[in-house]
Amino acid sequence: MGLDVEYGELVMPGLEIVAIPAFADNYLWLMHDQASGETAVVDPGDPAPVLAEANRRGWRITKILNTHWHPDHTGGNLAIKEATGAQIWGPAGENGRVPGLDHPLAEGDRIRVGDHEAEVWEVPGHTIGHIAYIFREDDIAFVGDTLFAMGCGRLFEGSPEQMFTSLNRLAALPEETRLYCAHEYTLGNARFAAHAFPSNQAIANRLQHVELRRSGGHSTVPTTVALERDTNPFLMAANSDEFAQLRLAKDQFR
Ligand SMILES: [Zn+2]
Repeated sequence: MGLDVEYGELVMPGLEIVAIPAFADNYLWLMHDQASGETAVVDPGDPAPVLAEANRRGWRITKILNTHWHPDHTGGNLAIKEATGAQIWGPAGENGRVPGLDHPLAEGDRIRVGDHEAEVWEVPGHTIGHIAYIFREDDIAFVGDTLFAMGCGRLFEGSPEQMFTSLNRLAALPEETRLYCAHEYTLGNARFAAHAFPSNQAIANRLQHVELRRSGGHSTVPTTVALERDTNPFLMAANSDEFAQLRLAKDQFR
């Protein structure tokens, strides 16, 4: 099933973030700073829809930001660089698997899009080098496949301890922080959450809301730290063992 989301969102005066649906359920994010004219694309798995959307808006992509090496997040790197001259920033810790990486990033590094500055956090678990871009002053975070609305990424490379730490670190951001994750997985996540925590009213309410949104073809992303603290089952784990059990149960949930 493809995605049909509302395009374009003025997050605050001068800053726009646009969701570009790709593949079955990915969101590729365009971030445009009106004052400087800078446009960054986060995790461009597919170059064609990214270039088409940027052209349609008259935006020139100047920066490519990757959260991790998976091809549905980096597959468009080289074609977009070729078409626009954009430079590529991404995790230093992915053992050379990010195509065309110009600027390897590690914990504590900073990157700007116009006047907006992001801190780089290492949030291993889904992959070993996974990073997130935390625009603190804007209350925005691009979290890739680490934290999803009501869910989290699968543990392909990291340990439960690492993912548990990464998720709780993101959840400790200010509650109004908007979390831009890379997939529309919310309905499946919400069903699992309701199954795992059947007496949790906040989860039941959100499941109902998500069912309505999705049946109307609407996006459920971004989410917020406040919503995730209330309804993300993986943030309800008291420790990494409980987290590991939940993650395993989700992997097996149909
Ligand atoms: Zn991934």
